[in-house]
Amino acid sequence: MKTAIYPGSFDPITVGHVDIIERISKIFDHVIVLISETPHKSYLFSSPERKNLIEESLRHLKNVSVDIHEGLTVDYIKKNRAQVIVRGLRAVVDFEYEMTMANINKKLDPELETLLVFASPETYYVSSRGVKEVARYNGSLEGLVPDVVKKSLMKKMK
Ligand code: ADP
Repeated sequence: MKTAIYPGSFDPITVGHVDIIERISKIFDHVIVLISETPHKSYLFSSPERKNLIEESLRHLKNVSVDIHEGLTVDYIKKNRAQVIVRGLRAVVDFEYEMTMANINKKLDPELETLLVFASPETYYVSSRGVKEVARYNGSLEGLVPDVVKKSLMKKMK
């Protein structure tokens, strides 16, 4: 059984995240979307809210589950017997950070592989930060986030 972990903040999940998850769910037996809880970071949505939004957005994918984790992703991976971390690459600016993280994780757990997946041309420009900015100023969220996220974002920004 091949399990991949897709870690991130998902504050909130966007169509870019959904695209990556749909694609990797076809390659792996099981995908765990892992909400990384970082106490010193401030989020718009609490981790249970983010978990709920991800689950609602991915109802159509039967081999995907969602979990919350505080601490090192490698520790979660060891506990859950996964082999691969998946990260999305939008542009060159993502590359250096992702390469550094992949190497740190490899140092911590040599058995682990990081798989970088290119963002699709339709969604590469979408980011959680960007959609929050659009929502803050009442812009259209059409095509940027799943419908359930659209509703929650609009409620939060009221
Ligand atoms: P983090 O704070 O860990 O970067 P994010 O929720 O912003 O968490 O992103 C999680 C992962 O999803 C990262 O690998 C990021 O590069 C990727 N990602 C974010 N937006 C997109 C997108 N539009 N297309 C493809 N990958 C994306």
